[in-house]
Amino acid sequence: MKEDNSLEEVKEIFSDYLTKKKHRKTPERFAILEHIYTHRGHFDAEMLYNMMQEDYRVSLATIYNTLDLLLDCSLILKHPFVGQTAQFEKTFGTGFHHHLVCSKCGSVKEFSDMKIRRTLQAKKFASFETTHYSLYLYGICSKCRKEMNSKKNK
Ligand SMILES: [Zn+2]
Ligand SMILES: [Zn+2]
Repeated sequence: MKEDNSLEEVKEIFSDYLTKKKHRKTPERFAILEHIYTHRGHFDAEMLYNMMQEDYRVSLATIYNTLDLLLDCSLILKHPFVGQTAQFEKTFGTGFHHHLVCSKCGSVKEFSDMKIRRTLQAKKFASFETTHYSLYLYGICSKCRKEMNSKKNK
């Protein structure tokens, strides 16, 4: 999937942010940003670390540190923290989708719904301008459901 325009855009946002906050503009930080924005879906720090080993070697500490910076300038978001590890996602160019969060294992799945989308886009607030949105539905994923059932049957 090619998203060259938005990649240049997010690089600029990150660069401006680093300048403003007087953080160093290291190639590692930009490599991490680029990796996040050229891949789809949700990830946690370790997944990102493992995926990046193939094309750009960065330490896990650098990943954690850069994720904090990207969160601070809103280029990524952190999903509600239910499971063992925090999961992240890029904020630009993801379309308007929602999330199903398993309250047992913390897994996050995506879904889209045109009806919800139309309803939310038609919603106007007097003193608030909506830029993007995401709903979270909580429940039990099929994997956990299966595990619970097999325990019950023992
Ligand atoms: Zn689950
Ligand atoms: Zn998502």
